[in-house]
Amino acid sequence: MKVGVLALQGAFREHAEALAALGADVALVKRPEELDSVDAIVLPGGESTTIDKLLDSSELRAPLTRRLRDGLPAFATCAGLILCATEVIDGRTDQSPLGVLDLTVRRNGYGRQRESFEASLAVRGLADGDFPGIFIRAPVVERVGPDVEVLAEFDGVPVLGRAHDLWFASFHPELSGDLRLHQLFVNEVC
Ligand code: GLN
Repeated sequence: MKVGVLALQGAFREHAEALAALGADVALVKRPEELDSVDAIVLPGGESTTIDKLLDSSELRAPLTRRLRDGLPAFATCAGLILCATEVIDGRTDQSPLGVLDLTVRRNGYGRQRESFEASLAVRGLADGDFPGIFIRAPVVERVGPDVEVLAEFDGVPVLGRAHDLWFASFHPELSGDLRLHQLFVNEVC
């Protein structure tokens, strides 16, 4: 079981380190042939407009979309979540999300004054206390489709959830030093 991390831009190293610390077989994915061999993938946070452009220049857009549509288990965090959404509000006009996760996000929705903050999150299915949610220019989930199971909320807004094997977080679990969400994802999809 090989877990890929989309490594075009953003916090991919931190995700890879978290997965490796859990004993997963990790592969950085920068090219289409590297995608072929993975059984799950993490789509990291970073800058969604940049990752969007790099998906085209790396020729990963079509194969990644196809594999996600075919049910490749994935954990999409922050910019990765924006990338997967069916609808992005306040995105850039040249940004075209993959549309594999039925929800609406507002890019940078938590606003400038709260560009970065930490919140304690009660996560369904996670024992041993709250999870430290690190939000960095995070998207706000404004609507979720009927297949989305919400696993955590902040101020009544979904911040963690899954639609079958496609998991999402609007925060950065890989920056918290807390491996429980990566562990949950790896346990569930492996
Ligand atoms: N605001 C960023 C974007 O639009 C996402 C921020 C993040 O991934 N931390 O891509």
